[in-house]
Amino acid sequence: MAKKRVLITGGAGFLGSHLCDRFIKEGYYVIAMDNLITGDLRNIEHLFKHPDLEFYHHDVSKFVHVPGELDYILHFASPASPIDYLKIPIQTLKVGSLGTHNLLGLARAKKARIIIASTSEVYGDPTVHPQTEEYYGNVNTVGPRGVYDEAKRFQEAITMAYHTFHGLETRIVRIFNTYGPRMRLNDGRVLPAFIGQALRGEDLTIFGDGSQTRSFCYVDDLVEGIYRLLMSDYAQPVNIGNPSEITIKEFAEEIIKLTNTTQKVVYKDLPKDDPKQRQPDITKAKQILGWEPKVSRAEGLKITYEYFKSLPTEVLYQRDHKSFDGYNK
Ligand code: UDP
Repeated sequence: MAKKRVLITGGAGFLGSHLCDRFIKEGYYVIAMDNLITGDLRNIEHLFKHPDLEFYHHDVSKFVHVPGELDYILHFASPASPIDYLKIPIQTLKVGSLGTHNLLGLARAKKARIIIASTSEVYGDPTVHPQTEEYYGNVNTVGPRGVYDEAKRFQEAITMAYHTFHGLETRIVRIFNTYGPRMRLNDGRVLPAFIGQALRGEDLTIFGDGSQTRSFCYVDDLVEGIYRLLMSDYAQPVNIGNPSEITIKEFAEEIIKLTNTTQKVVYKDLPKDDPKQRQPDITKAKQILGWEPKVSRAEGLKITYEYFKSLPTEVLYQRDHKSFDGYNK
């Protein structure tokens, strides 16, 4: 029997590359697509010689053509860190809106099932805690995060419209903070920021007073949740994340212990609209998918630290997006 074929957009990114690995492992033929704005081919280099992987260098906000059949589409192309939204706001809006429209059209043409990567950012700075899928959110449309949050909210709306109007098989995963190997060291997100600072011998920068909370999920757990949701028959949005919540101050302390750094923490201004608290309610994922995270923060952080330590020194000092300092001013 011919192998099932899957298209993974953002295939060279952090989550996309881990999804490529998983689908190859499950015996699929994988087409990875990426415009490489925030993705990096080094994330999938190890798969290049694999006969079941093909890579297309393409921007999905332009018409997407894939020859042959497709069984599944995973739309994971998008900038995903607040610094990236500020640097490339229009591309962020386009990939979530125009890109999603193109991929829904492709899914229809190929009679493929499609899963869309949504985000806890649809809840904005939440007034309901923990966040259930029923909460409608508290988003500032015109703030710095609006370009991402509203693109993702539109993405959910158009996906649901294709489901109800065209009968397309769609799935929506709301992804909470996720970490693991292949995060971009300088994308400005808190975990690579802290580990990078520790490795370079710099102080760890806490934005605000560090009382804001996040709940970090290890990437393998996330990929398992996504895989199960795609294979399920549930079309409504599902939160996937780790409910273990921690303040950013406590998180900095964990990283200091993990890396054995003698550096201290320094405090900087809190960026605008930075959510004060975030924790997924995963009751739905448990009930519908029989899924819950398995990897503790201690285990996951250890693996992630080993990854960052193994990177060449020049990567550690590449300032790319970090040189953009309008973020927390
Ligand atoms: N943060 C921080 N120091 C940094 C980078 C981020 O204190 O060097 C904070 C940030 O203000 C936010 C939290 O860490 O409250 C998580 O930030 P991240 O950008 O990783 O993700 P998001 O805000 O989208 O959850």
